[in-house]
Amino acid sequence: MKELTIYHFMPDKLNLYSDIGNIIALKQRAKQRNITIHVEDINQTEGVTLENCDLFFIGGGSDREQALATQELSKIKNTLKEAIEDGMPGLTICGGYQFLGSKYITPDGTELEGLNILDFYTQSKEERLTGDIVIESDTFGTIVGFENHGGRTYHSFGTLGKVTHGFGNNDTDGKEGIHYKNLLGTYLHGPILPKNHELTDYLLEKACERKGITFEPKQLDNTVEEAAKQVIVKRVKNNKK
Ligand code: GLN
Repeated sequence: MKELTIYHFMPDKLNLYSDIGNIIALKQRAKQRNITIHVEDINQTEGVTLENCDLFFIGGGSDREQALATQELSKIKNTLKEAIEDGMPGLTICGGYQFLGSKYITPDGTELEGLNILDFYTQSKEERLTGDIVIESDTFGTIVGFENHGGRTYHSFGTLGKVTHGFGNNDTDGKEGIHYKNLLGTYLHGPILPKNHELTDYLLEKACERKGITFEPKQLDNTVEEAAKQVIVKRVKNNKK
């Protein structure tokens, strides 16, 4: 029996623009490889260990919900950091990505403490960065999604790729997301995984590798997924700002 367990952190607070679709995509593409996915919703972290976790997911949220989620997750931040350092695959979206850093500065200058798992920070401004976004990634190829954030994130880690349309991490350096070990952090909602099968398969494959499960077939028929992605790519080309 091939089985993976996903820990979905704070689904009661962090689920913007159907981020839950990421879990559905992981389940669906695992099923096509006869892998069963078991999802644990973690809304309270007291006493939680990651012993049974193969992959984790954190969605996005408003500043308020993100601050509440950070408080809750701070109880297990060392465990989470160790798991990330050990190569546990994870996906974190927007607010969930931002609070992995040291701090989130709101537009009025208030500093909200992050989990400080990775050394980066986010500065938020009133003017939001929104719309379709397209990235070119050396690892994953073309990635598409939707972004809506006030936060500007600055770091010198590896990224998901170069922004060809939209904003990404901030409005200056033209890069999007973070790729550290097997952790992906990104501003892309959409949700990102149904729109980008390469990322879904990457996370599943890494989880399988760590657990000693065969990940086959490596490639699925992605004709429909590719066609859907091209709709976004064409749309942004036609609406070039
Ligand atoms: N509150 C954060 C921001 O606006 C995150 C928003 C989100 O998760 N979409 O930057």
